[in-house]
Amino acid sequence: MVRELLKLGNPKLYEISENVTPEEKELVKAWAADLHDTLMEYRKTYGAGRAVAAPQIGIQKRLLYMYTDKPYIFINPVITFPDDETYTLLDDCMSFPGLMVRVTRHKRAHISYLDENFQAQTMDLEGSLSELLQHEYDHLDGILATMRAVDNKSLFTCKT
Ligand SMILES: [Zn+2]
Repeated sequence: MVRELLKLGNPKLYEISENVTPEEKELVKAWAADLHDTLMEYRKTYGAGRAVAAPQIGIQKRLLYMYTDKPYIFINPVITFPDDETYTLLDDCMSFPGLMVRVTRHKRAHISYLDENFQAQTMDLEGSLSELLQHEYDHLDGILATMRAVDNKSLFTCKT
């Protein structure tokens, strides 16, 4: 089901989400289906969007959904950084279409998480996937890319 995407300024986006519990395994399937439908609807409208975080559709759970070459579900993800190399890029977000923010992200990241079967998985990320998952992970801690702007002149409006 396509859900409403919470938009910049909605207080729920600034909350810290809770871990998914093993009892919620069946619920995760329904949440992931909604995240998928919402992501695909956004793509249809805006021609962009690679991933979405559960709190963006009002589910305060540590759950991310990404669709690149195939769908990925990240349950209770933990991100660490193997080194300190960073880079600066223009970031966007499904919670504020039409706005770009210059942010600094780690070039490389390591993510450990549970997949949809609650099996432990890890992934080494570099470049665009690294910055993408840092962005999505931030949503679980109530952090929006606007809060990571490199300075107060680094927000730009753009055509949607
Ligand atoms: Zn976002």
